[in-house]
Amino acid sequence: MIGINEWLKLKDNVTSEDIEMPVLFVGHGSPMNALEDNKYSREWRRIAAQIPVPKAILCISAHWLTNGSFITAMDKPKTIHDFGGFPRELFEVEYPAPGYPALAEKTKQMMNEIELGLDYQWGFDHGSWSVTRQMYPEANIPMLQLSIDYHKPSDYHYKLAKALAPLRRQGVLIIGSGNIIHNLGIMDFSMKEGGYDWAIELNEQIRKNLLDKNHHYFLHYQKIGKAASLAIPTPDHFYPLLYILGLQNEKEAQEIFNDSLIGGSISMTGLKIG
Ligand code: ZN
Repeated sequence: MIGINEWLKLKDNVTSEDIEMPVLFVGHGSPMNALEDNKYSREWRRIAAQIPVPKAILCISAHWLTNGSFITAMDKPKTIHDFGGFPRELFEVEYPAPGYPALAEKTKQMMNEIELGLDYQWGFDHGSWSVTRQMYPEANIPMLQLSIDYHKPSDYHYKLAKALAPLRRQGVLIIGSGNIIHNLGIMDFSMKEGGYDWAIELNEQIRKNLLDKNHHYFLHYQKIGKAASLAIPTPDHFYPLLYILGLQNEKEAQEIFNDSLIGGSISMTGLKIG
């Protein structure tokens, strides 16, 4: 249980700063984006400079798939290097942002029907730190990760996200990190920039539906057709988007960024809401 002093502290934060934090979906792409100064990482940094400095970050990464939903609740999350075949420099990256156990506990208590477990094993996988290392290189903002229950359908993730909405008023920046179009199996590495015809066409359709705030389209992505089955052969990198859409209010401003395809079958598209 959360202590009364912690509660009051969190409560004070709410009343002292009544701003609604934006929410972000980020197409993270290659883990090398953690180190590289390129057009994608520059956009991440631009957005970080434009939005209010968060009190905490909650990241839903494509790389933490679980049975049941969990939130990291340790004081000092470890940096996980969950990839292979990259330069040593990348394995040496540490992202020493602190955890925020009281916020994890509070988030757990905010859930109505959904059971959210506290996790003390995970940490930060590259889906989260490759992005936040660029956005907040000082690693001085507490960060938590929320896992993706991989046994649950789209509407579960969307609904869980809605229960997280009050965190936005408490200075928490919620980031979904994945890639909307993500098929590593058919990637063409000679095609550095650009997409296959089906990917270009689908990306255009995705863009339109994001702009129209047509959440139904994304919740029922299996019905889109053959291009979607190529784009989303497994939903791990797609589900983080559903969390971000679940947090979108009808009248909020939004911005699409990094809307480009790489390697034929990966989209780097990001969405800033609010
Ligand atoms: Zn990934």
